[in-house]
Amino acid sequence: MDLAFPAAVYAARLDRARSLAGDAGIDAIIVGPGADLDYLVGVRGHTIERLTALVIPASGAPTVVVPRMELSKVRDTAVGALGLVVADWVDGDDPYASVLAALPGPVRRVAVSDELPALHTLPLADRLGLLPELATPVLREGRMIKDEVEIAELRRAGAAIDAVHRRVPALLRAGRTEREVAADIAAAIVEEGHATVEFVIVGSGPNGADPHHEVSDRVIADGDIVVVDIGGALPSGYNSDSTRTYAVGDADAEAARRIAVLVDAQRAAVAAVRPGVTAAQVDAAARDVLRGAGYGEAFVHRTGHGIGISTHEEPYIAPGQATVLRAGMAFSVEPGIYFPGEWGARIEDIVVVTDDGVDNLNRTPHALTRAGA
Ligand code: ZN
Ligand code: ZN
Ligand code: ZN
Repeated sequence: MDLAFPAAVYAARLDRARSLAGDAGIDAIIVGPGADLDYLVGVRGHTIERLTALVIPASGAPTVVVPRMELSKVRDTAVGALGLVVADWVDGDDPYASVLAALPGPVRRVAVSDELPALHTLPLADRLGLLPELATPVLREGRMIKDEVEIAELRRAGAAIDAVHRRVPALLRAGRTEREVAADIAAAIVEEGHATVEFVIVGSGPNGADPHHEVSDRVIADGDIVVVDIGGALPSGYNSDSTRTYAVGDADAEAARRIAVLVDAQRAAVAAVRPGVTAAQVDAAARDVLRGAGYGEAFVHRTGHGIGISTHEEPYIAPGQATVLRAGMAFSVEPGIYFPGEWGARIEDIVVVTDDGVDNLNRTPHALTRAGA
């Protein structure tokens, strides 16, 4: 396996995590398998009963505690490229002793990544004689502010999912089931450059009114409004996520009118994005347009979520979120309106906060798109 980025990128991320931990008065961070581990050393690891953990002391070199049977996978990553300390263990050993040995002497505050399983967090707490805190406030600083190489990956992912959406009108035809259309879309996601399909939502007619509907065997009918929300991960692990709403044949005039208001709401929220604005203000920009048109009650979720090596991460664009936007943040803007028993609609782009505004990574038309009847 190749590293997604040069080893120096990971070295800088580790240094940053270490200094942020030091600034926060945390003696060490213990990172379990998951997106944080991937971000820091380029490997996700497995969430299994055998402990894999990256121990980052506030001073000194990080140690990777890893089962010997997983060792080769870890050596191929930044762990090998940076020459980090590796403490491998075999069944019968005490891996928690290796974690304790990697700590910088006596510790008062230890933080754990939010994906370290309770299976390991609780025995570790017992051995440390203290309750660890979440490392999220420290680790999210790095993950939330994307650098140039990350933004280039997100841009590539955005172009790839746009290419898939351009193919949707030809796939979405009356008489086909949601599942048949979704299978074709999944194949297109890979054909257009993603390594994996993360999700395919095809919500036709009343199914579109359920924001988390995935697919069913419902046969798509002429006149249906269809929500298509799709995403995949590039070989580097960076994700795409874009939603468009389609009309199979001619849409009902009232539905088309409401969807035009949704398009305005989405555009208003994107236009509100710039450094210094809060996440809540971006959410309000979409919500105000929908409320003004009488559809406030139909918008039942937050406006967006951060995206990177996870499809959902910080910052969250929601009411009450005081996070101040900074250049390099990447997140979705995806208001929707849902009319139970009738239909739903959602429009979603991934945007990046720039020094003076916003860059929209998804470029296919926002308006209700006609698909083949
Ligand atoms: Zn979701
Ligand atoms: Zn989505
Ligand atoms: Zn999304």
